[in-house]
Amino acid sequence: MINKLVITSKNEEFLRRIVELSGETITVCEQCGTCSGGCPLVLEMDVTPAEMMRMVQLGQEEVAETRTIWLCASCFSCTVKCPRGLDPSKVAEALRQLSLRKAIDHIDIMNIPADEMDKLPQIALVSAFRKLTG
Ligand code: SF4
Ligand code: SF4
Repeated sequence: MINKLVITSKNEEFLRRIVELSGETITVCEQCGTCSGGCPLVLEMDVTPAEMMRMVQLGQEEVAETRTIWLCASCFSCTVKCPRGLDPSKVAEALRQLSLRKAIDHIDIMNIPADEMDKLPQIALVSAFRKLTG
């Protein structure tokens, strides 16, 4: 039996919010998968960039719990190749904002070992704090 997909008003509201935050017309994604094919981090992700876009189209809020949105490095490989002119990195950023706006950080300086801290380039730390803290 084929289960019928039901889109609720909550799903629609979630999609509307991410469209607003990202500035991307997510509904035009045609699921071609080009973004996933060219993503340098896809093997580390739990959902591919194309799957992330589909989950947002369907208003599936659990997309905000994926590792993918935190792993996206905003390298724009996907953006330059998308046939629909979409930027999945902006969608990932919008999804991160949902968490960061609640002041839920994804990095804790106290948990970085001192020897690691000595080795890390300062610019990497600054960039991580910009991306991963609210
Ligand atoms: S490349 Fe663009 S149209 Fe294709 S799946 Fe990715 S976001 Fe959608
Ligand atoms: S911007 Fe993000 S999703 Fe797009 S190719 Fe780069 S790491 Fe992958």
